[in-house]
Amino acid sequence: MFDESKVTRMSIPQWEAVYRAEIAPGVVSIIAVHDTSRGWALGGCRMTQYNNESEALTDVLRLSRGMTFKNAVAELPLGGGKSVIICDPKVEGRERETILQEFGKFVAWVNREGDRYYTAEDMNTTVPDMHIVHEHTKNIFGIIVDPSPWTAWGVFASIEFAVNYFAMDLFDGKRSLEGKKVLVQGLGKVGTSLLGYLHGAGAELFISDIRPENVERVLTNYPEATIIDPNNWESAEVDVFVPCARGEVVNRGNLDMIRYKIICGAANNQLQNSSIGKALQARGVVYCPDYIANMGGVCSIQYLEIEKLSEEQTRAKITRTIRKMLGLTFRTAFRNNLSFNKAVDFAVKKIIWGHEETNLSFSNQELFPLTFSTEPVD
Ligand code: NAD
Repeated sequence: MFDESKVTRMSIPQWEAVYRAEIAPGVVSIIAVHDTSRGWALGGCRMTQYNNESEALTDVLRLSRGMTFKNAVAELPLGGGKSVIICDPKVEGRERETILQEFGKFVAWVNREGDRYYTAEDMNTTVPDMHIVHEHTKNIFGIIVDPSPWTAWGVFASIEFAVNYFAMDLFDGKRSLEGKKVLVQGLGKVGTSLLGYLHGAGAELFISDIRPENVERVLTNYPEATIIDPNNWESAEVDVFVPCARGEVVNRGNLDMIRYKIICGAANNQLQNSSIGKALQARGVVYCPDYIANMGGVCSIQYLEIEKLSEEQTRAKITRTIRKMLGLTFRTAFRNNLSFNKAVDFAVKKIIWGHEETNLSFSNQELFPLTFSTEPVD
């Protein structure tokens, strides 16, 4: 039984529902349902430590809103949500199992009156973890399909599209990836799969990771790859920079050093804030919005796990949607004199709510700190 006396509901303007529960002694989980206009919310569960609970709340709100936008731009019949479990992600054994079981009950409780939020694996949670969660809720995806290789495919399709689209401006009309210098930052699940596609397309590989063992592993497959110091990646002389490690990689501190022609990767929230997008554009750097480039993973869940399409159909649909949405973003930006990161928000708001927003702002600074109230659950 899930002890609902431990749940608090937070009323947050623009979010449909946000719940907080203590799911184990000292372990808090927050589930945020941002918007279900297009369908029930889908968004993974992160397990991580934060400096304080307010930081965790900010993270889950930002990520859940990002899922609304990503699912809409991917043309999926899904809304946006996300969950976090605030604890040491290295917790293991019986303790981990208990936390995951209680989290599963919490998800089931949020869906007690009908489907509104589906969870999945995310940062520091694994498919085996999700099988434990699944014992207590049916509201879960991503336990059959591994989304990471599909995310990698989407990033690759985005890079190919951007190189082709801007070939005249940036590459003397040379449209293929053959011989282009591409730096992949983060050699994890997505980065490693992506290298295979880039290698196959003839790109010159540059690699960077804070974990030397990951660099070594990649070098056994691609001995010709050039290693870039993870503390000094900004000065690498490459054509395309592919962030697949963490967010806010392009910020006020390193903006002046950025010389790449294209930035296109899987990491969420690659720009510190939306004004960075404008500054990049002023320098002639093409930024492919993160939530278009990394949509492949969530698309794979919808197409393979929910709609039961074949892998071939899935690959074709991801490629088609990415081309369409990047094209729409670039055109919207040129027509309205917007940076690409603002243009995609502009376009996607129209997709979700069907009207043009006059306020195009989308930075965390403009939305946070939030004012909200808490109340006991019904
Ligand atoms: P992962 O944890 O498997 O890999 C991340 C890699 O980045 C690790 O090898 C880590 O050592 C490295 N890293 C961390 N900090 C670094 C730094 N400062 N410099 C260089 N390397 C660093 O993660 P993943 O699943 O491959 O995802 C990569 C990124 O894409 C993450 O930001 C994730 O949130 C995002 N993303 C992933 C998916 C997916 O399907 N896996 C979907 C959407 C978005």
